[in-house]
Amino acid sequence: MDVGVLRRDGRTDPFFDGTAAGRLVVRRCEACDRWFAPDASGCPGCGEEDLGWAEASGAATLVTWTVLPKEPPVFLALVELAEGPWLHARLDGVERADLREGLALRAEFEHPDEGESYVLFRPWTERGSVR
Ligand SMILES: [Zn+2]
Repeated sequence: MDVGVLRRDGRTDPFFDGTAAGRLVVRRCEACDRWFAPDASGCPGCGEEDLGWAEASGAATLVTWTVLPKEPPVFLALVELAEGPWLHARLDGVERADLREGLALRAEFEHPDEGESYVLFRPWTERGSVR
């Protein structure tokens, strides 16, 4: 599975400014009321090339995943945001046995000493974070 890593490249600055502030900011086409991944280059619905940015709820579900055989194992996932777009991200606070399609997740933000803040996803229940 190809797990793309977003890098700050000018086009994605609002995404990284968002994660630094603990907000999940993705692309949105106002005209179509459709949401897109941060690296989307245009709206296939109306052809708009200059998509806006908007804050997503952070709610997501698990689509697919891969486990890197490290100690501890690293979980890389493709998640579907409640608003629709798909995002590659790491999972945290999960065990291999927890993983199933449709698992409810919630965005959390990591702020490493070096490099960009990034988003990862943790399991979520009605009662709050599983951890
Ligand atoms: Zn559009």
